[in-house]
Amino acid sequence: MIPATMKAWVFYEPEVMKFEEVPVPEIADDELLIRVRACGICGSDVAYYWGLSPLETPTGKGPLILGHEFSGEVVKVGKVPAERKLFSVGDRVTVNPVQYCNACEVCYRGFVNLCENKKVLGVSANGAFAEYVVSHYTHVYRLPEHVSFKAGAFVEPLANAVYGVKNLQVGLGDTVVVFGPGAIGLSVVSLVKRSGAGKVILVGTQDFRLEVGKAMGADELLNVRDASSPYYAPNVVERISHLTGGRMADRVIVVTGSKEAMQLALEVSGRRSNIVYFGLPGAKDVIEVPALPSIFWDKNIRFSWLAPFTWVEAIQSIAGGLVDAERLVTHVFPLEKLMEGLQVAREKKGNPLKVMVVME
Ligand SMILES: [Zn+2]
Ligand SMILES: [Zn+2]
Repeated sequence: MIPATMKAWVFYEPEVMKFEEVPVPEIADDELLIRVRACGICGSDVAYYWGLSPLETPTGKGPLILGHEFSGEVVKVGKVPAERKLFSVGDRVTVNPVQYCNACEVCYRGFVNLCENKKVLGVSANGAFAEYVVSHYTHVYRLPEHVSFKAGAFVEPLANAVYGVKNLQVGLGDTVVVFGPGAIGLSVVSLVKRSGAGKVILVGTQDFRLEVGKAMGADELLNVRDASSPYYAPNVVERISHLTGGRMADRVIVVTGSKEAMQLALEVSGRRSNIVYFGLPGAKDVIEVPALPSIFWDKNIRFSWLAPFTWVEAIQSIAGGLVDAERLVTHVFPLEKLMEGLQVAREKKGNPLKVMVVME
């Protein structure tokens, strides 16, 4: 049944992470024990491992098991969810790693993504680059039968994308510009196109990513860097002006931390446009807003952080075929090869989109 020990990657400090045999965690009455079946590698995991960003533990360091984008199977149910008949052994689930407390003033106001007591699995508490992981039962979501564990592990990034798209408020026929064709940006392309966007313009730097975007619903591809690309557009503002007959874009979402993209978003957006900043810039990056033209065009600038109450929609988006999560998972490694996966995610070797650890 459940063994006494498990294999886990324990992160100690930048570039020190060990594959160890550790005890399988005990659960409290309000928790579930989940056998991990798939866990995506996030850009933030790359940042933690190479010391580009501290953990959210009190010291900013380990020991901690990373991994926050995961799916798995329930193997043990705590007393409370068992009595409420909410979960059973064998349930296939995905987990919101951002485990808010539901009892602080911020949570009471519904801003659960900003909870002051939140525990984040894989960031401030043990995560899922391990055979087993513990979660509070209120942050666990059952997966529909035909949604694979791989797709289930993509629900976390997708839930964030869904929140970004909700903040964007796409109207029927709107021209939407998406900066950043990573796995999340490509999901955003799918979601906005299927929410009734008119023309979707995808801006990036690598043709292979742009072309996946085309398959996922982008109408126009702009490559801002590669002069040999058939989509090469050295002047994005001019190009978008041309594509919109001078109106510029109705909606712009920046799904990259690139400062240039954040700045360009202000220039390619039109009258009454909504601009959403989603990707994470550097800690000291500053965006300069051309104030008067932004006022004269009555623009709405918004930021988007995490995924409050968007998990059900994300699961439904995958289950209903709005987003082809499987297609975005380009590289898969077994748990013991996590380090290889991190390398691929960092160096972008072999054109990865989503890199994942998958357990048999
Ligand atoms: Zn992540
Ligand atoms: Zn709270």
